[in-house]
Amino acid sequence: MAQVYDRVALIGLGLIASSMCHAMRRAGLAGEIVGYARSAETREIAREIGLCDIVCDSAAEAAKDADLVLLCVPVGAMESVAQEIGPVLKKGATVSDVGSVKRTVIDAVAPHIPQGVHFIPAHPLAGTEHSGPRSGFAELFDNRYTIIVPVAGSDPAAVAQLETFWRGMGALTDEMDADHHDLVLAVTSHTPHLIAYTMVGVADDLRRVTDSEVIKYSAAGFRDFTRIAASDPVMWRDVFLNNKEATLEILGRFTEELFALQRAIRQGDGDHLHDYFTRTRSIRRGIIEAGQDTDAPDFGRVKPRKE
Ligand code: NAP
Repeated sequence: MAQVYDRVALIGLGLIASSMCHAMRRAGLAGEIVGYARSAETREIAREIGLCDIVCDSAAEAAKDADLVLLCVPVGAMESVAQEIGPVLKKGATVSDVGSVKRTVIDAVAPHIPQGVHFIPAHPLAGTEHSGPRSGFAELFDNRYTIIVPVAGSDPAAVAQLETFWRGMGALTDEMDADHHDLVLAVTSHTPHLIAYTMVGVADDLRRVTDSEVIKYSAAGFRDFTRIAASDPVMWRDVFLNNKEATLEILGRFTEELFALQRAIRQGDGDHLHDYFTRTRSIRRGIIEAGQDTDAPDFGRVKPRKE
């Protein structure tokens, strides 16, 4: 694939930014990759592992002269970064982000983007429970959707260029408006994370009673909650503080359904439980048919035994 931008600046050098470095390099999408992270320690690691071509000591220095600036910091840090880089942005450059929430990020960042610079928010729907500059890998975005969220007046050519860039990194792309994005993500990601955090918290209380049984028998489903609940606390704190309304709306519906299931269990209403579980099973089938997960038992952890 051909180069899409001359100079790409990554502000924040964690899981998402480091995966982008590897994915950009794999496809030759950037002439030069410049990076910045807040702590000297992260910048030092990035230099040591050769993550970017240049690691700068300030966000402004990294963003200056860049054709594409990607904000890869927690949602709650977007505004201060935008404020710092706003004055140095090159005319004609594109600023994008990878934040998991879109409405509040747009409200926080847009006022700092000068005339003549394109602001096109985006969100790759790909991640792991790991963080930091060493956690990235080139395949993270392969066959996963990146949602592009153009704002009023976004230049179609600049949007098309950003979509080409994401597809070059292996992603599928789609466009959505910010509020719809935040509602969809509340259902598919944010509320499930909150439920996982809660379940692991409850089990932790139980562990005090039963010693190590919770860990010993975790393969019975609990293990998958623990993986999700191991995600970065700062990132997820910011997600919930910034996608408040949609998350509360979905949590409300979740609680109602949970009560209905609770009642069905109490009343011995097997039909209700069976119908409900039949419906949810078909959702899993739909995800597999859409190529968004493996059909292998236990997510492929179970290897077929060799005869
Ligand atoms: P990460 O691995 O924790 O890295 C975050 C980076 O941001 C680090 O380089 C950190 O610098 C820097 N940073 C943190 N606070 C900052 C601040 N106040 N000012 C400047 N820099 C700051 O995070 P990530 O998983 O890559 O997530 C980055 C963004 O991607 C978030 O907005 C998140 O919502 C979004 N996202 C995450 C996932 C996922 O599953 N992880 C998926 C899709 C989108 P130091 O290392 O120096 O602290």
